[in-house]
Amino acid sequence: MFQSFLIKYAEIGVKGKNRYLFENALVDNAKRALDKIDGAFQVTKENGRVYATALSYYDYDEAVEALQHVFGIVGICPMVQIDDNGFEDLAEQVVKYIEENYEEKNFTFKVMARRARKNYPMDSMELNAELGGRILDAFPELKVDVHNPDVIINVEIRNHINIYSKILPGPGGMPVGTAGKAMLLLSGGIDSPVAGWMTAKRGVVVDAVYFHAPPYTSERAKQKVVDLAKIVSKYSGPMNLYVVNFTDIQMYIYDKCPHDELTIIMRRYMMKIAEHFAQKEGAQGLITGESIGQVASQTMQSLAATNEVCTMPVFRPVIAFDKQEIIDVSLKIGSYETSILPYEDCCTTFVAKHPVTKPNINVIKNSEKKLEEEIDRMMEEAINSAELIRIQ
Ligand code: ATP
Ligand code: MG
Repeated sequence: MFQSFLIKYAEIGVKGKNRYLFENALVDNAKRALDKIDGAFQVTKENGRVYATALSYYDYDEAVEALQHVFGIVGICPMVQIDDNGFEDLAEQVVKYIEENYEEKNFTFKVMARRARKNYPMDSMELNAELGGRILDAFPELKVDVHNPDVIINVEIRNHINIYSKILPGPGGMPVGTAGKAMLLLSGGIDSPVAGWMTAKRGVVVDAVYFHAPPYTSERAKQKVVDLAKIVSKYSGPMNLYVVNFTDIQMYIYDKCPHDELTIIMRRYMMKIAEHFAQKEGAQGLITGESIGQVASQTMQSLAATNEVCTMPVFRPVIAFDKQEIIDVSLKIGSYETSILPYEDCCTTFVAKHPVTKPNINVIKNSEKKLEEEIDRMMEEAINSAELIRIQ
């Protein structure tokens, strides 16, 4: 019975001359999200507002869910749209709207009418008063409260008349595609999908790279990463996922370098390879799920050592989050259940019992000298043999 949705957005409303770019991205992204469900929708912008209008039968819950994955949307208002057949008809329709949408008639309300079309014979003050009166006649249990009502009945007089009162929460943020692109180092853990989601939420397009180490990591571990990429891409849009075979590099480091430095050195090579794919995709930065102090490779000194090989900025959105705070986000976005599946990842296979927690850059660089003979060739091979999976 809701023919359309009014889509509310906040921050993008204040972007001055670039506002239309943000609105257009929001319209495109909302359209793409709705295209995936049954039913046809038209998404339009009109006088600083975005509407999604159903052109056919559709599933209400599916449509709301689709819109709740579109960054930039702060509120989704399901609307009833009626033709203008005069005030008497409008009053009947508003009463019917309340009858059908509120089972318990024990709330306070006010009517908020707006005339976008000034030739309507009543002004908004009159409409508020008259409609309020009709509602009270129909439901004497209700009360008017103009200052702090439980329910605001919005009535917008346009070419059609829109009636709405419910605001379902959207995911917030900015429309994806309005803030550049970044390359996510996506592992099978809890943190990196959350880091990717948080960055996409600010309007950034996200591609991803996963370091796979067969036979130490299984096909199922890889499938888990693909599944996590799909979960993030439900919000962030289509994603290119590079799966890099990291086994030779990992074994080589394991053979040549002190085992307590293995994780740091591995991570430095991961960053370098990730940067290669970032450049290839035209991305401006890298994203990781690192969080200070979480493990030995994420102390300040370790992060500095990892960072030292990067020429691009590295974004670490969960850097100051406690594990529980990261888990809370992963539960909210639906990645947690997949992240906790028990398949091994390539870092756990070779991890030292007592990794360095305060690596010294010069010591690390010295150890890396032992890799000189083969590492460039191995990196090139890892890059050239990477598998590209397109996540839709
Ligand atoms: P958890 O969520 O359990 O902490 P994690 O994968 O985040 O798992 P870390 O070893 O702490 O584990 O890795 C830190 C960051 O490094 C990850 O968030 C991710 O961005 C990147 N990373 C680690 N391993 C890989 C991998 N195999 N492929 C791609 N990125 C990885
Ligand atoms: Mg982690």
